[in-house]
Amino acid sequence: MSLQDRIQNVEKSIQAACARSGRNRSEVNIVAVTKYVSVDMTRSVLEEGILHVGENRPQNAIPKWEALHGQGTWHFIGHLQSRKVKDVVGKFKYIHSLDRISLAQELDKRAAAIGEEVLAFVQVNVSGESSKQGLVPAEVEDFLKEMQSYSHVKVIGLMTMAPIEEDPELTRPVFRGLRELRDELNAKAVTSEPLTELSMGMSGDFEVAIEEGATWVRLGTILVGKGEES
Ligand SMILES: *Cc1c(COP(=O)(O)O)cnc(C)c1O
Repeated sequence: MSLQDRIQNVEKSIQAACARSGRNRSEVNIVAVTKYVSVDMTRSVLEEGILHVGENRPQNAIPKWEALHGQGTWHFIGHLQSRKVKDVVGKFKYIHSLDRISLAQELDKRAAAIGEEVLAFVQVNVSGESSKQGLVPAEVEDFLKEMQSYSHVKVIGLMTMAPIEEDPELTRPVFRGLRELRDELNAKAVTSEPLTELSMGMSGDFEVAIEEGATWVRLGTILVGKGEES
């Protein structure tokens, strides 16, 4: 299948999920996850008009960013080691994997040094799987309060990963849990501005995630392929 066909199919699925859940298509943003594909494929994705690209490893992402001269908006979606932060800040506008204060400190320091602001999602382990990164839901409120003192890191929402399921319907409670957590935090006005964003949904489960309120879906395989084909 061509890239254009993949994009069209995904677009149809997103529109259908929005229609089923009474949402406006404009509320859902696509991050094309290019971690499996080449620089050339990433360039094609950008040329097709996809604005946001996501990568999960600095050693692969930075050469790609440089080859493409930073076209598009870059999202860091994987576990981020503090010592890699200096390579990422200034290139990646969004970090989807904020999961500890020591990382916030380093992000804040590096962003302040270049006079930029990093937009962050707090990663939450809603499913409770031991293999998953992220804060447990009960820790998020205190974490957000502490985040208020880092003026160069702006938390805009929450991110989660659902367990891999044969039946995507089984992921629904995880996505719903993240939305309810966000709504509770907003009702308590934990942050100075309400958290608007939910980064949730991947190739296997993005339609359910959209039905549950995703504002960013992170799509690799289904959108850009796994690298063997163009
Ligand atoms: C790889 C990855 C994705 C995309 O995965 P697909 O299933 O290929 O769509 C999304 N989010 C994160 C954090 C990833 O590491």
